[in-house]
Parts: sequence; C-alpha cells; structure tokens
Amino acid sequence: MEENKKTNRKLTTASGRPYAEHENTQSVGRRGPLLLQDFILHEKMAHFNRERIPERVVHAKGTGAYGTFKVTHDITQYTKAKIFSKIGNTCKVFLRFSTVGGEKGSADSERDPRGFAVKFYTEDGNWDLVGNNTPVFFIKDPKKFSDFIHTQKREPRTNLKSPTMMWDFWSLNPESLHQVLILMSDRGTPFSYRHMDGFSSHTYSMIDKDNQRVWVKFHFKTQQGIKNFTGPEADQMRAKDMDHSQRDLVDAIDRGDFPKWSLKIQVMTEQQSKNFRWNPFDLTKVWPHGDYPLIDVGVLELNQVPRNYFAHVEQSAFAPSNQIDGIGFSPDKMLQGRILSYADAHRHRLGVNYEQIPVNKCPFMVNNYHRDGQMRVDDNGNEDPNYYPNSFGDVIPDPAYKEPAWELESNIADWYDRNAAPGDDDHYTQPGDLYRKALSPEDRTHLVNNIVAAMSGITGPRKEQIINLQLCHFFRADIQLGMSVAKGLGVDLDKAMPKQHS
Ligand code: NDP
Repeated sequence: MEENKKTNRKLTTASGRPYAEHENTQSVGRRGPLLLQDFILHEKMAHFNRERIPERVVHAKGTGAYGTFKVTHDITQYTKAKIFSKIGNTCKVFLRFSTVGGEKGSADSERDPRGFAVKFYTEDGNWDLVGNNTPVFFIKDPKKFSDFIHTQKREPRTNLKSPTMMWDFWSLNPESLHQVLILMSDRGTPFSYRHMDGFSSHTYSMIDKDNQRVWVKFHFKTQQGIKNFTGPEADQMRAKDMDHSQRDLVDAIDRGDFPKWSLKIQVMTEQQSKNFRWNPFDLTKVWPHGDYPLIDVGVLELNQVPRNYFAHVEQSAFAPSNQIDGIGFSPDKMLQGRILSYADAHRHRLGVNYEQIPVNKCPFMVNNYHRDGQMRVDDNGNEDPNYYPNSFGDVIPDPAYKEPAWELESNIADWYDRNAAPGDDDHYTQPGDLYRKALSPEDRTHLVNNIVAAMSGITGPRKEQIINLQLCHFFRADIQLGMSVAKGLGVDLDKAMPKQHS
C-alpha cells in the first residue's frame, strides 16, 4: 500500500487497461438497475469467487519462511551431493511448518504433530525433506493413511472431531503407540514452531562418490531449546490466539531474532541394517542414539518472511520424491507411498505446472520434455524439440547420475502382513523406552493427564472395549503407565482385564 501511494501507480484491469471507477457500478439512473457492460464488476466478482484453491487435505494450517542452510561439517564420506561437498557451502531454503489434522483456520496450539517441510534450493536440483516434529509416525504402511487421517478429521454425521474414532483406530493399530505417546506428551503441544525439533522421520539413503550406499535419518535440532505448552496452557492459548505459532515466527524474524536448527544425521551401513533389532525402514521405530549417534552436518537459519503468504506459503509444494544426486530413497513403505502421493496432491491442488510457481521453481537448471498443461507460465520450451530421442536438441540424460542397484531381500511379491518382517511386531519396547528413559517424572505426569483428558472423550456403545484395548497397549509398554492411565480413567482393572482375555 505504501509503495502504491509513493509511486502513484495507475489502477488497471487484469489486462492492463487503466480505468477510472473502482467503487460504483455503471447503472441506469442513480437507483439502477446495473449495466451488463460494466465488465470490471464481473472481473472483480469472478476473480473473488475463485480466490480459494483446495486446502491441503492434511497440513492445511501452516506458515513458512525463507532462510539459508550452511554446511559446518564434512560428510563427503557418505554423500556426493554437491551441497555437502565442502564445509562452508550454503544454499537458500524455504521451510513450511504446519499442524496436521485441522482445517486452514484451526488453532496453532491444537494437540497434533507439526509438519516440518524443508526445500533446499541446491545446484543438484531442489531437495525436499518433508517430515514432522516427531521421529516416528502412527502407521507403517501407506495403505492405511487415508483411514488414519479420516479419524483425525470430522465424524461423518456430527461433523465434529471424535476422540472415539481416534482411539478406536489407535487401539486396533498397536504400531501407533509410539507416536501416540509422543503426541500425548507435552511435545504434542509445542510452544511454537521455533521451539521444536524436526525429523525426516523416514530412512533415506546417501550415496558417495564411489557409489556406495548407507541408510540415513535426518534430525533438525532446535537451537532455541525445546519449549512446550502443558495441556491446559495449550487450551488457554487456543482461546487467546488461534495463530500463536504463526505470529511467534513472523515476530521473531521481523525483530531479527532468526531461528536456527542444527542438521544432524544418523548413519547405518547396509550390513548393520541386516542385523538391526527392528526393521530400520519401519516408520514407527527410531534408531537409538546410543547405537547410531547423531553426526553434525550444518545449520539452517530462517531469516525472511515472504512478502505474500498465498504466493509463497500456500502455493509451496514439497515432495519426498524431490531427492538429489547423492541422496536417495529407502525401502520404507511409507516413504514409497509418499513418493507417489505428494506430487499427485500438488498436481490436483496447484495444477500440473506447480513446479513453475516461484517458491517451487528450481533456480538452477531445469530442462525436460514436459510441455503445455494448465498455467504453463514460462516459455514452454520455445521452439525446442518436445520429444526424445531427437536429432536436433541437446537435452539428453546423463548416465553419470545413475544410482547403484539395490539388492532386495526377496523376489516374492505378496500382501505381507505389516507386522511380518523381523522386528516389525514389537510395538512396545521403544514406547516403553520413551516413557522410562526420555521422559522426566513431570513429563510422565503430564503424559498421563493428557491421555486421560483425551480418552475421556470416548463415547458410545464401544467405549469400554476401546478403552480396555488401548489400556492393554499402555500396560504392554510399561506397567506403571498402564496403571496410571487406568486410575485416571477410573477403570476397575479387576473387571476390565479379564473381559479383555475372554
Ligand atoms: P536418548 O535417551 O538418546 O534420547 C532421548 C530422545 O528423546 C532425545 O532425542 C529427546 O529429544 C527425545 N525426547 C524427550 N522427550 C520426548 C518426548 N516427549 N517425545 C519425543 N521425544 C522426546 O534416546 P534413544 O535414542 O535411546 O531413544 C529412547 C526413546 O527416545 C525412543 O524410544 C524414542 O521414543 C525417543 N526418541 C528417540 C529418538 C531417536 O532418534 N533415537 C528421537 C526422538 C525421540 P531432545 O534431545 O530434543 O530432548
């Protein structure tokens, strides 16, 4: 607005014609009716009707900022990615934070995982790490994703959030227990986006200059320190400021207090992966730090709030398929599913040419034979050949970028039970470790209070069954945890548990 006034720019139609009247529609006489020929009225109303694009089906409420990533440690022994070729290398980044289950207007302080999606604009192409503030997830097979998310959204009849749906699903899917405990701890209600860690969550791979592959997990550790709301504090903030996390990020950057995260990796060799106690590609498990220590890599700093929210944040599109030379996929089934679904979601939401939107556009080389499609806004390849192979152009594949072949563990295709792989059926050891080892006594009390508050919302004819089944999972992780939750819910264990086994 200030700029407009200063430069006194002329108001124009979308086609660039300056015009005189922006507030009054052309009419017959002072009282009307209106003339159809006032096309500026049509243009204004029609554009307004089309302002909303589909909100993301998950992670709809979010905020983002630009910044820089700087390499501080040498990891060339693991990867040939150019960004990591030298200490001191930097690249521009865009980071979008979000909540997961709520709509675009929902409160930032809801109990929910937080999205942590980073786009690194590297000379190898854009590299996206699309993770959460938690190292694990609720499910390990993407076929369950839509079912799971339905339980986090609104109940079909009442259009209300339903603790019954959530706990029904969790109780019937014990693999969710690890993430449920993290969600129900105070890390489920972070004070703000600046005060939480980020994780790739998935296992990825790194490939070195000799084409040797290791498995890798990425961790972003907040330099602001972990800070969470307790359950009651989060409820208060929801009533006071629905946009608290967004405001906190914008205010911090605007006052020059740039938030930073240390990027670290865990590395596992292919050989180690064969002897790991759990399936290293199971998204419901972590790699214990004691066995796979964090290795320093670099520092990410956010230092610029985009000048327009819709243009940059709402239209930002991250995809786990965006990996770069020297960093690759793993057999993690959830990752494999997301490789497909993220780009698909963007094509639906933003159109087939979404990678041309400035926030998504690779600032370095992009050459291919994709042509046309809605909202093609670049030169569409000009007069260059639009097919390959051809005898005229110079856009050719480079065999130097070939990834090393994968040795697969089996050649038998089947619908394997999701708990069938060795180490896949232990849903309780790591949640128990979290409860006993990572949480302080105060954290445990808050965890139990939060679980009891959340489970108290279960209603309906299956209430007892759902509560008892979920209690079994808590007991199997840790007896004290099970006892505390049962006590908080007022469950008579003598009555409840025998029923469970009958
Ligand atoms: P360590 O004892 O080496 O470290 C504990 C980890 O737990 C730290 O990363 C800590 O994060 C994190 N933590 C503390 N409180 C919570 C919470 N409420 N929710 C989630 N994470 C929390 O752990 P191990 O590697 O031996 O693993 C023990 C348990 O810790 C695991 O079963 C897992 O549940 C949890 N954990 C493990 C991670 C891993 O990658 N190994 C990562 C995160 C959690 P911080 O350093 O920021 O305080």
